[in-house]
Amino acid sequence: MHKQVKSTCCYCGVGCGLLIETDKDRIVGVRGDPEHPANLGRLCTKGASLHLTARPDYRLLHPELRRQRQLPRQRVGWEQALDHAAERFAEIIAAHGPDSVAFYISGQLLTEDYYVFNKLAKGLIGTNNVDTNSRLCMSSAVAGYKQTLGADAPPCCYEDIAVTDCLLIAGANPAVAHPIVFRRIEDARAANPGLRIIVIDPRRSESAAIADLHLALKPGTDIALYNGLLHVLLGEDLVDREYIAAHTEGFAALEQTVAAFPPAVVAEICALAEAEIIQAARWFGRSAAALSLYCQGLNQSSHGTHNNAALIHLHLATGQIGRPGAGPFSLTGQPNAMGGREVGGLANLLSAHRDLANPEHRAEVARLWGLPSVPAQPGKAAVELFAALKRGEIKAVWIACTNPAQSLPDQGTVRAALQAADFVVLQEAFANTDTAAYADLMLPATTWGEKEGTVTNSERCITHITPAVSRPGEARADWEIVVDFARRLGARLAQPLTGQLFPYASPEAIFNEHRESTRGRDLDITGLSYALLDSAGPQQWPFPEGASSGRRRLYADGVFPTPSGRARFVAVEHRPTAESTDDTHSISLLSGRLRDQWHGMSRTGTVARLFNLDDEPLLSMHPADLRQRGLVSGDVAHVGNARGQLHVRVKPDAGLLRGRAWLPMHWGSQFMNSAGVNALTLSACDPFSQQPELKHAAVAVARA
Ligand code: SF4
Repeated sequence: MHKQVKSTCCYCGVGCGLLIETDKDRIVGVRGDPEHPANLGRLCTKGASLHLTARPDYRLLHPELRRQRQLPRQRVGWEQALDHAAERFAEIIAAHGPDSVAFYISGQLLTEDYYVFNKLAKGLIGTNNVDTNSRLCMSSAVAGYKQTLGADAPPCCYEDIAVTDCLLIAGANPAVAHPIVFRRIEDARAANPGLRIIVIDPRRSESAAIADLHLALKPGTDIALYNGLLHVLLGEDLVDREYIAAHTEGFAALEQTVAAFPPAVVAEICALAEAEIIQAARWFGRSAAALSLYCQGLNQSSHGTHNNAALIHLHLATGQIGRPGAGPFSLTGQPNAMGGREVGGLANLLSAHRDLANPEHRAEVARLWGLPSVPAQPGKAAVELFAALKRGEIKAVWIACTNPAQSLPDQGTVRAALQAADFVVLQEAFANTDTAAYADLMLPATTWGEKEGTVTNSERCITHITPAVSRPGEARADWEIVVDFARRLGARLAQPLTGQLFPYASPEAIFNEHRESTRGRDLDITGLSYALLDSAGPQQWPFPEGASSGRRRLYADGVFPTPSGRARFVAVEHRPTAESTDDTHSISLLSGRLRDQWHGMSRTGTVARLFNLDDEPLLSMHPADLRQRGLVSGDVAHVGNARGQLHVRVKPDAGLLRGRAWLPMHWGSQFMNSAGVNALTLSACDPFSQQPELKHAAVAVARA
């Protein structure tokens, strides 16, 4: 008889619940959890094959250390490993100050793991150099929500998909990246023949295939398009003047801005037809309820924050927010990007959606942690963190549960940075990621099916997960590693408050402290506990003390968490991509996900069946662009620019306009003879979110 343990899928931000089946302490199967609100029993191909990844052969099972770069790492015990790490960090901090060390963590950690990493950096060491791979994924959504609505809080829920009349999918491809959300879209389409689906994507994606209208805009022209849609809404009196007057501020200035974006101008900028723009605006403006789903296509841009704001403007101007079926709904990429944001796990944030730049917020966090202060100096965001490592300003980096030697843009710079570092620690479940080659110390961490803690999915829903099996080898939970290291480092730094800062004996103790930090904040979860999450099931925040349930939708009362209580329109101007094509680099390279792979494939790459649909990265281009280069399907092309190059086979795709190419993001050095797509991407970042423009680079494509 197999045992079943409730858990969640560790891939995307949909956060599907699943039942892990075990036999004699081995994971032997998974099934969708019919009681989990995110998926109601459904799983996609990735989630349904998770049990096949529960194997020891690709795991890091023991700590490994090398004392000199040119030597191979040797197996060591935990005592030696953590003492060495504490020694090196203490030496570097003593010699160069707290900002000479940094932590680069992951949206795949549990909230409790994130919380202690944040406290280690900001509380114990006194540096804000703690950033995460969520910077590459959601930071523009965070900044976009904060600029307009006042808080980093997706106001919608998955049920909205079933009751909307107009679904705007912008810069997202849920058919492959959020498949269980897409099942909801297919259900809504079947149940409501009047539903209009608009997809905005430079490529005719799998999601665009079911759209009533596909706007294949020129890459990077999102703001012009949304300003153009608002121009039409204004011209056709489809805005909600009452809502604007009662609940928003700043509209007059934006009205002036969008006056310069009539459909004819926007059509020219975006390479669209005027009629398409007008049609999209009419469907949005005339619908009883309009919902937007958006993701990396908006976020991974050098103007990602304003891409988000410009889209949110459409909802505010039409009052399409805070009602069933209406609102701007940012889909998170990673399983716990939300949880990381909740505990302030970014270089510019503090616990419970507090801002580092706000002195009152810093004082509140210092009080909560029992410290005289927390550092005010902003930490370095991901791209800048690795640039500082290369320059020697940061000497030591601790990386956890992520693979920057594949996933960050401009791999040439990132790999040189890791090479230049004095000390690199990698806390990982997997033995052979691209980053492992640079690690001086590797610390084995537990992973899916082995951990306890909480995760928050895209619709603000928190699930408590517990281990299904014992930890393999000498692997330890991420929070345990951090707490053990923190105590050792605190002793060496002679920090008298270390014991008080890290008193935890369980993830529940960490959760309870995090919970208290949210009291009175927009994400107040003081009414939650592990016991309640176990008995009542996953819950959406906010869930304050005394509440009987979480809140399905935010801002139903039209009151926003800004100083005035009003949502804000932001003056957003069209700006082109950071890098333009030219005669030499004439192709706009776009990137995205495949249905059956996840991120850098450290997990999905271990499952043979997940290569059945796509077994290698193919560069898609318009057939005429291929012909022009003497290429036919299956030929190998050389793709390059000043930053790097790679060789990939090509395939024709008439769903791409000429001058555009698309490459899946998943393959790195483990699977191909190159750093993958990020050999070519650039490190230009959005000025507000510091999110890099991973979605566009100019490249030359030629026959290899
Ligand atoms: Fe996992 Fe996302 Fe698939 Fe759900 S939709 S099973 S969370 S990968």
